[in-house]
Amino acid sequence: MAGYKNRVLRVDLSNGTLSEEPLEKALIQEYIGGRGFGVKLLYDELKPGTDPLGEDSEMIFISGPLAGTNAQSFSRYKVFFKSPLTGTYFKSCSGGHMAKEMKCAGFDAVIIKGKSDKPVYLWMHDGKYELKDAAYLWGLDCDDTHTLIREELHDPNIRMGCIGPAGEHGVKYAGIFSDRRACGRGGGGTVMGGKNLKAIAFRGHQKVELADKDAFAAAVKEQIAGYKANPMFANFSKAGTWIPEVTNTLGMYPTKNFREGMVPNWEELESSEYLKLLVRKTGCYSCMVHCGSITKIGRTKYAGAWTEGPEYETIWAFTGPMAKADIGLTIAADKLCDDLGLDTISTGSTIGFAYELYEKGLITKKDTGGLELTYGNSEPVMELIRQIAYRKGIGDLLAEGSREAARRIGKDAEQYAIQVKGLELPAYDPRGAKAHGLNFLTCPIGADHNTGYAPQEIFGAPVPKEYDRFTPEEKGELTKWNQDVTAFLETGILCSFMPSMGMLSDEVYGKLLVGATGVKEFADPAYLWHVGEKIFNLERMFNVREGFGKKDDAFPRRITEESVPEGPGAGQVFEQEKMLTDYYRARGWDTETGIPTEKKLKELGLGFTAGK
Ligand code: SF4
Repeated sequence: MAGYKNRVLRVDLSNGTLSEEPLEKALIQEYIGGRGFGVKLLYDELKPGTDPLGEDSEMIFISGPLAGTNAQSFSRYKVFFKSPLTGTYFKSCSGGHMAKEMKCAGFDAVIIKGKSDKPVYLWMHDGKYELKDAAYLWGLDCDDTHTLIREELHDPNIRMGCIGPAGEHGVKYAGIFSDRRACGRGGGGTVMGGKNLKAIAFRGHQKVELADKDAFAAAVKEQIAGYKANPMFANFSKAGTWIPEVTNTLGMYPTKNFREGMVPNWEELESSEYLKLLVRKTGCYSCMVHCGSITKIGRTKYAGAWTEGPEYETIWAFTGPMAKADIGLTIAADKLCDDLGLDTISTGSTIGFAYELYEKGLITKKDTGGLELTYGNSEPVMELIRQIAYRKGIGDLLAEGSREAARRIGKDAEQYAIQVKGLELPAYDPRGAKAHGLNFLTCPIGADHNTGYAPQEIFGAPVPKEYDRFTPEEKGELTKWNQDVTAFLETGILCSFMPSMGMLSDEVYGKLLVGATGVKEFADPAYLWHVGEKIFNLERMFNVREGFGKKDDAFPRRITEESVPEGPGAGQVFEQEKMLTDYYRARGWDTETGIPTEKKLKELGLGFTAGK
């Protein structure tokens, strides 16, 4: 079928076998691609109760039907696995150029299971594939791994996803890195490390066949016109996600482990300051937004440090938790995490958790090896990042993530682990944006912002209508809306920034899909919304099968009982029980258990999951 390569590669690392199979037509029809393929394949492949780091675990890399075409912002890949951090279904996404190379190498998906008895990497190019020795790469950081694989294969244009020392050492939130882009969250790099898989590398020259070239070209033209007309396009293109000024002004920039909503001297993090450090713009394959930036610091103790980004979450991760705005540290820490292979959000947030434990006396200088974790002092951050990546000193404990570290510490430390289902909260205080928070609570992978971003509350986006960010009213419906639109746009796989800015309508998306694949049903917005809802419910049912339910849709009591002390959000708490009930109702789920009803599952064509 056009748009797809119609081929899946299956790899068993335990016995070193590689085999091809066709992409099933029914999968395309029912799930379109990307996130749809990922959840269905993982649900079917993985037995309930599988140890994410055991031999039976699997991970699935997927490019979408629009990858490798000139549709904008679609050349992204996703990786699916059961998370060693959360124990849930997990999906993680990255831009860059890898998805295009994967597709043009001739594959829509790669399913990897087993565990190699020695370090290997997977090399796929123009329809061919092989496992190669990675013993000489083990221990190297992500930058060096990229360089040496390209040198070994004599091609500077190879793209790859690789792990650094953090993945090799089993840090529970190690990511997968593609140049300077990352599938950061949830421990995809940890799963790769557990399989002795250092990298998965691609190079391809095959064309992507289109069902109707003229219709596709017209749809791309319409997409580009829509981008240019969007009021957020120019700013986003210029400064990317540099929005600390937005969230500090709203009083929802989590500071001191989510106790406060504004970091002191936040003006030092304004986009105008960052633009002074800009070296050049960069971006992903076939995306006119070009939101990335190479930045270099030249005037502080971190002089010489450079990175691509940092984007908003990373800026926050190394400022808010320590209550210190230091633009130089954000750049240096971002680069260090990329090199060592760490998710910046969980790294910064878990360090912030340690700061509060230190303040409360639950850990001391003896535990930290002499590091003083006092608010306003972000000096220890770089050292803590290294200790986490190599599991040295207190880093060995923090490498487990805040929830597990708190369990091991005991002494009431759990209340200071600010997470949902084990995934640390990103850079938005849920008390200041209630639908945004409700998405953190109900998102299948834990507290993720991209699965159901609420632009209505953060940027005042008027679609589907305007909302008061503080009110809990109508937020069940709104959260469902944001989650479902994101789910169907990620079948493409569209960049997750686009739904958060309303950059692409369902109609234009449908035209792109039909032009590429020729499947007429994809033109119908109602069909797309149905697929989005179906994907989200199947993700929920994966977790239900693992024993998750309403009890796991829970914030720590800081968010539900302690009010924001001052600023625009002063007095706000998160009304968890009421909002969850509204949300379950909007979804057609049982309000007592948080489990989709059999009626709802059948309506969505997911009857096979009922009662599992
Ligand atoms: S908006 Fe930015 S991150 Fe998203 S695809 Fe474009 S360049 Fe990549």
